[in-house]
Amino acid sequence: MMKNCLNSKCGGNIKLLYDYGSNYNFNDVSFDCTTNSYSKPKIYKCNKCELKFSELAAALPNKQVEDKYNNVVDNIYIDEIPQRRKYFSNLYKKICYNFNKDQSVLEVGSYYGVFGNIIEPNVKNYSGLELSKHGADYAKKNYNLQIFNETIEEHTKRQLKYDIIIMADVIEHFSNPFKMLEAIEKILKPDGLLIFTTYNMDSLYAKITGKNYHWILPMHLFYFSNKTLKNICLESNLKIIKIKNDSRVVSFYYLLNKLKLIFPKLKYLFQYMSKIKFLQRVNIYVNLFDLNIYFVKKIRK
Ligand SMILES: [Zn+2]
Repeated sequence: MMKNCLNSKCGGNIKLLYDYGSNYNFNDVSFDCTTNSYSKPKIYKCNKCELKFSELAAALPNKQVEDKYNNVVDNIYIDEIPQRRKYFSNLYKKICYNFNKDQSVLEVGSYYGVFGNIIEPNVKNYSGLELSKHGADYAKKNYNLQIFNETIEEHTKRQLKYDIIIMADVIEHFSNPFKMLEAIEKILKPDGLLIFTTYNMDSLYAKITGKNYHWILPMHLFYFSNKTLKNICLESNLKIIKIKNDSRVVSFYYLLNKLKLIFPKLKYLFQYMSKIKFLQRVNIYVNLFDLNIYFVKKIRK
């Protein structure tokens, strides 16, 4: 039974924040990015530092999480690549003023390489880190990207340094984000920039929806806010210098599939709608002001 904050530098007492009644079978946890499993894990909150995390964050050993990602084959994601490309182009526009042709860029959690394919032509060299063998191979084969099929801790041993490190919706997946940020700090050049995206649990939308917040999912182990991110960055000698809002692009078809899971009573209506041909091609921009882009610099010692 968990009693203390998972951040060992805090060690505060924790309380159960959201309980969904059922108990989790860890072997059944799906780590696909687009999983359709909708049973939610218990969420805990630290009384001292306010950090929120799932019961799975403590229960799953690092190695087991890594093994799960090694075996991910996400065909739903592959079908959604046109929408992902639109989203990542949009994201790139919001961060592109930081990039130039002299830079070495690392993307942590490069998945199927969709973002890498957009970044690569604009920088000196792009590398991706991806644990999913299927994702890494797809990115190498389809986009001709340099992808390392290894963890960030393994990657630090190569002694490579980067001007920019990107993590798009990745930080919430780590079973030890504290150690991960320490590793990032080590491989970031003194003037380097870390850019990452995640949901903000202090956003109005996350607060209103509470335990039903749609980003509470089995593979999301940590639930940060601007405040808790600021704290854990500082512990690794990193400082958040700017926060921008982020919007998403999904296909109407994808949205209907999600709605089917959230409102099972309306399943037949959504099923009917998803058969309408022209609706399948419609892309929807979603902005609930709960997703942020964080810009992070090293603190000069
Ligand atoms: Zn704490």
